[in-house]
Amino acid sequence: MAVNTVTPAVPAPVSPASPATPVGPAGAPKLGLPLPVLHTTVLDWYEANARDLPWRTPDASPWAVMVSEFMLQQTPVKRVLPAWEAWMERWPTPAALAAEAPGEAVRLWGRLGYPRRALRLHAAAVAITEEHGGEVPDDHATLLSLPGVGEYTAAAVASFAFRQRHVVLDTNVRRVFARAVTGVEYPAQATTAAERRTATALLPEAAGTAATWAVAVMELGALVCTARGPECGDCPLFTSCAWQRAGRPPYEGPARRGQSYEGTDRQVRGKLLAVLREAHGGVPQARLDAVWPDAVQRARALDGLVADGLVEPVEQGVYRLPQ
Ligand code: SF4
Repeated sequence: MAVNTVTPAVPAPVSPASPATPVGPAGAPKLGLPLPVLHTTVLDWYEANARDLPWRTPDASPWAVMVSEFMLQQTPVKRVLPAWEAWMERWPTPAALAAEAPGEAVRLWGRLGYPRRALRLHAAAVAITEEHGGEVPDDHATLLSLPGVGEYTAAAVASFAFRQRHVVLDTNVRRVFARAVTGVEYPAQATTAAERRTATALLPEAAGTAATWAVAVMELGALVCTARGPECGDCPLFTSCAWQRAGRPPYEGPARRGQSYEGTDRQVRGKLLAVLREAHGGVPQARLDAVWPDAVQRARALDGLVADGLVEPVEQGVYRLPQ
């Protein structure tokens, strides 16, 4: 659902002179409003504004949630939606995916980017099928033991698929907490222990509420407290936000990484993979040579794809997706 855009996107900051009330429990971050009120405020906003996404429906399987979490890392919802739907239609269970070659996962991954995620998801499907009876595990430690599942994905799947209480820290959540709680425009480049302590202190006690809180804060970061243009006028935390109350101080940390693509090896890899995805069988080197004029960069990109297991040489000068 779209957020209200009647109010100006960037209203005047709250006066730094109006003091925030430090009411968090001992050791908890100092908040501009009591913790239960913070929870209610964000949860009510989520109920009114959450997007209607297929992996959030009550009948979405843990596998459906897991696939969405793999795809949503580094890719926006708009691009993920059609890929997720195609994936779930073809492979509605981990066993269905595990029965096919990893190259088929790479093929259907299409242009989502960072295609090693497809290989990792396939490897996780194989592990779930062979070691866990075909069911996505419901405990954090076992999830963490699956190929390609790191701390974030394990916490997200345990939280969103099984309604458990976990700290789920993605870039959206980290940005909301950096601004609303810590009072800085952007978080550190890598997650810090202090951020984890803050997120833990803010987590509601009841597991089901904590699970909704996790997705609600994430949604607030995705829809309102965005990286480049936070729409503070639409934000339920406007009057308590620490960054607003401090007068929106500019970011002073190290230069933030850009997402350049044009002319990079990533772009060349994408072009090579596009040719291989469309082919059924081996592709001669000459067809791959046609995708990029710089032979050195092209060879480096192809070598990288082979090293990553995304492409395999069949014979001299012939390549294909992994079988
Ligand atoms: S938390 Fe809300 S008020 Fe604070 S910066 Fe983000 S969008 Fe603006």
